[in-house]
Amino acid sequence: MTAQEKLSAQDYQIKTPRSQELYQRAREVFPSGVTHDTRYLQPYPISIARAQGGRKWDVDGNEYIDYFGGHGALLLGHNHPVVVEAVREQLEKGTHYGGSHELELQWAELIVKMVPCAEKVRFTSSGTEASLLGMRVARAFTGKNKILRFEGHFHGWHDQVAFGSVGGGGALPAGIPPEVEQSIVLCPPNDLDQVAEALANHDDIAAVLIEPTGATFGHVPTGGEFLVQLRKLTEERGVLLIFDEVISGFRVAPGGAQEYFGVQSDLAFLAKILAGGYPGGALVGRAEIMDVMGLTSDPQWNAERRVSHYGTFNANPISASAGLAALQLVATTDVVQRAKRSGALLRAALNQVIKEAGLNWIVYGEFSDFHIFANHEDRDIDLEDIRNGRVHHAVLKGGTPTPLIHEIRTALLVQGVDTVPWPGGLVSAVHSEEDIAQTVEAFKAMLEA
Ligand code: PMP
Repeated sequence: MTAQEKLSAQDYQIKTPRSQELYQRAREVFPSGVTHDTRYLQPYPISIARAQGGRKWDVDGNEYIDYFGGHGALLLGHNHPVVVEAVREQLEKGTHYGGSHELELQWAELIVKMVPCAEKVRFTSSGTEASLLGMRVARAFTGKNKILRFEGHFHGWHDQVAFGSVGGGGALPAGIPPEVEQSIVLCPPNDLDQVAEALANHDDIAAVLIEPTGATFGHVPTGGEFLVQLRKLTEERGVLLIFDEVISGFRVAPGGAQEYFGVQSDLAFLAKILAGGYPGGALVGRAEIMDVMGLTSDPQWNAERRVSHYGTFNANPISASAGLAALQLVATTDVVQRAKRSGALLRAALNQVIKEAGLNWIVYGEFSDFHIFANHEDRDIDLEDIRNGRVHHAVLKGGTPTPLIHEIRTALLVQGVDTVPWPGGLVSAVHSEEDIAQTVEAFKAMLEA
């Protein structure tokens, strides 16, 4: 550590003593002191007391511009008044009916209107559950066992997707049975020839699963042309195409990546913005496929071919009320465009700061996001190289050393900005020009540190 870096770490501790205290207690009850691996931070994470709009406040009273964005769920910022009102109204009417209700129906009907591939919907409680269900449904519908997915692409934390999602190769993580690995065919991202070869070599692939914007919401960008070609290839081969739209859904366009790129998948996973900042997910897709979850009059088919699905909190009235209110705003106002515009302004301003500082870092992204490439190996690359897939995915994802990510994040926190450990962040529709200007100053100070 240089003297400057030490100063930044010390500043962090000086500003956040109560967070540190709470972290000592948290370590006693939570493994590594956190409730989600992404929230882990060295020397310790800040503890949040409240949030509003594009900002949040920690237990020491420090104010932050929030680019963590509820892991991407908060396109509308914290506590959007329309969503709060919908939830408040619903709280009085009950939080769980253990039965069908009209709100879930309105919520689903709106999703069907908005998302191109969505003819039918099945709600879950999270993106991980949507992913688990979608992979099972794809297998049941096709009668084939394998799923082809891409190195670095994230689809939740269940066994079938919890390996190969950071960088490529390596040992199977602890706790995952080796047989599970055999049900997955992993390909490098953005390499159509390898996909074609894998599909030719395996006749038991049910579906190709992809984050349509590229690994970790465009951390390793995937262009629209790749999706067009992938759609063609899967159709030719009779293999389903699944878009994981857990982050991209309702963010890159009201109808998600399918609308933005003009490519329709057969199934899609949704979560995050879907439920307006509350827990919720959904598997959506073509009716013919989704109907493998439906009971028929044939008991043998039901017993042998049908996919059963449960989940105590599926479409619970609170998430349904928040989700419906949020999606109505996405469908009828310019929130998606506003967030994208702020994202573009922020990326341009940060790159200007980098240029003025004479550094080789790159800030990139295409939507309401930003990804910081700290270029610690001093590679001779630019924004266009990243955009056009000329930088190897392992360099972009998992290429920034973890200690450096912690330093970037704590230095930004000291300056009042909370980011995600890609490193980067998610921009909301309520981030203002003042927020952006303040972020630029914070970024400058972080670079100096
Ligand atoms: N897929 C993608 C693309 C995601 O970004 C995430 C969450 N980061 C998931 C799936 C898992 O969703 P959840 O955290 O709701 O289980």
